[in-house]
Order: sequence, then structure tokens, then C-alpha cells
Amino acid sequence: MISTFAEDTRICLGHDGIEQDTLGAMAPPIVQTSLFAKDSLQELGTALENEHAQHVYSRGQNPTVEALEKKLALLERGEACKCFASGMAAVAACLFGLLKQGDHVLFVNHIYGPTLQLANRLRSYGVEHDQVLGGSLDQVAAALRPETRMIFFESPGTMTFQMVDIQELVSLARGREVLTVIDNSWATPLFQKPLSLGVDLVIHSATKYLAGHSDVVAGAVIGSAELVKRIFYDAYLLLGGALGPMDAWLVHRGLRTLPNRMQQHHRDGLGVANFLRGHAKVKQVFHPFLAADRSRYEEQLLGASGLFSVELNTESYPRIALFVDRLNLFRIGVSWGGVESLVIAPFRGHNGAALAQRGIPVGLVRLSIGLEGAGALIEDLARALDALE
Ligand SMILES: *Cc1c(COP(=O)(O)O)cnc(C)c1O
Repeated sequence: MISTFAEDTRICLGHDGIEQDTLGAMAPPIVQTSLFAKDSLQELGTALENEHAQHVYSRGQNPTVEALEKKLALLERGEACKCFASGMAAVAACLFGLLKQGDHVLFVNHIYGPTLQLANRLRSYGVEHDQVLGGSLDQVAAALRPETRMIFFESPGTMTFQMVDIQELVSLARGREVLTVIDNSWATPLFQKPLSLGVDLVIHSATKYLAGHSDVVAGAVIGSAELVKRIFYDAYLLLGGALGPMDAWLVHRGLRTLPNRMQQHHRDGLGVANFLRGHAKVKQVFHPFLAADRSRYEEQLLGASGLFSVELNTESYPRIALFVDRLNLFRIGVSWGGVESLVIAPFRGHNGAALAQRGIPVGLVRLSIGLEGAGALIEDLARALDALE
């Protein structure tokens, strides 16, 4: 971990030479243009035939976005990256660009809700899917069909943060014409490098830790040059979810402090999780580093981000809401990965059955630990928990 973390830090800080231009600008220039004029019709024609690698139109390639793409590819140790207007645009481009009617997708582990909703939409285009929770290799193998073309997974998974053994999953897909795709938003490339373990594609919601300041929505796909090129022509250019140069620049700026932020998210997240684990009003804590299977994943997941959840010792909606509302330092809202701490609970008082079906306890509260400091956050949580009689 030490060596890749140090190397990644150099990449984030700009010692990779990607930003260097003729002016010596320390930050990448924001090339705010929709199109790039050429000297001759012939030159334009040649560029159009190679649009994934040429500056023609900013729905295709743009130099500011490209600087970010190069950096993300380096961090994930991938050949190529394409950035998108959101994480969901990246997910959509993978599904639309790589699947066709008659194909089957296997989702493994808990998956971000809108990703599954999109998969449901794809049923009406003839793309089927199943989901395996729990992630034992036997269950996954049993759920594969002859027409399975993609295993899409998260590790740790959304909401309950269970791990999946990436190498085992990859070995199952190998030799079967099944692409493996992981949503790596939680761990960031600093703490987990799925491509190095044989995964085909990594997806990020760069909105979260990569940008890190709750001021931009962005996404990315990283993998082999061949796969990213397929996604570029068959989905990205056609669906139109292009990241703007200003937003790419903001993500790029966020990356400068990614190593520092992730170190503090790791430390303070664990500190807060450990406090909650011992609290009488908390039934259990869902944090991959505090899970019974942690030793198995020591080499796969090198650090923890600041997002985890707890199950309170209550199933009463008013009491869960009371707890959330009493927190001062945790802002109430969706998303995560910014500098400020956030809290959300999926139970709304009437959706208990739907949550149970997804394996999510009614008393679950998700915390995104920001940079306020573990001590202050623990104090805030202790006070709010005391109010729960
Ligand atoms: C937020 C999120 C997404 C979607 O990203 P957007 O940038 O909001 O479109 C995808 N996957 C996970 C795990 C997320 O948390």
C-alpha cells in the first residue's frame, strides 16, 4: 500500500507531467470551447475519423477533460479513461455501449439504486438481469447464464458495505466472454485498484471523493483502450453525457487533496465507527474494516473511506428521525464524499417491506464522515443518541 499510495500522491499533485503546457501553468487550462477549427477540410475529415483521440467537438474530446482522464487512468493503472457528466452517465454508457438485446447482466452485491433502476428500464430493450446478494462464489456461479455478458458489482456494496472477493469473481468471468465492471466510487483508486486484479472496467461517480467538495457532478469509466473506445463511439458520443471543461477542472482540483482527504476519512471514519460499535443504542455497525471477514480483504482494500452505516436499536420512524434531526454537525442530505459530514436514513416510515426485500434493516442510518474531526463528530453523535430513550 505504502508504495502505491506514495505514487498516487505524486500523480494527484501533478508530478506526472500531464498538466504541463507551453506556458508552464501549474493548473490545467480551462479550454471553454464547443468546437475546434481545423486548417483544411481534409484535416477536419481526418480528425472526424479518429474522434476519440482528436479535438473536434467538446461532446467528444476536450483538452481540459482529457487532462482529467489521463490522471484518472494513471490512478487506476488503466490504459484509458472517459469522463462523463455524472456517475450515472458513465453507468448508462457502459450498459448501453456494451450490451445488446438478448444479453444478461448479473449484479453482485448491493448496488446503487439508480443503477438497478436503469437495468430495469433495459428490460424493455431486451436486456435481462439478476442480482446476487451475499456474494458467495457458488451463488454467483449458479446465477450465470449462457447469455450473461457482464458482471456488474460494487465492493464494498451500497448501504451495507459488504465486500466481494474481486479475484474470485474475475476468475469466474474469465473464459466465459463475461465482462467484469466495478463501481469503485467508495474506495477510490487510492484504496482499491480493481484493474490490477483483472477487472475489465472501473466506474466512478467523481461527484463523491474524487471531486470531494460537493460542488460538481461527474463520472468516469476506466479500462483498456479498446473497451473505452467502444464505449466512446457506441454510447458516449451518442448519449451525450459529456463533462464540461469547468466541471472537469473542478474534479482535477479536487484530486490535488485526494490523498490527504482519504487519509483523514479513513482515520476519522474508523474512529467514529468504533465509538458507535460500542454504544448501547446501536445494534450493529456496517463498516468493511470492522466486519468479521476483514482479514480476507486486507490486500484487496487498503484503506477505508468515510462512508458507512449503523443499525439503530429501534425500528420506529419517529425515533430514527429524531436521532437524525438532533445531529448538528451532520447535514441531512443525499450524496457523500465531500468535506462536510452527512447523514441519511432510507426508512421513510412506510417502505419497510421494500427495504427488507433489499436486505436493508429499517433502523439503518448512513453516515458520511467529513473532515470536522472525529472528536467533535463523536460528541455530536453521543448527544443525539442520548436523546433516544
Ligand atoms: C452517487 C453514486 C453513483 C452515481 O453518480 P452521480 O455522479 O450521482 O451520477 C453511482 N454509484 C455510486 C456507488 C454512487 O454513490
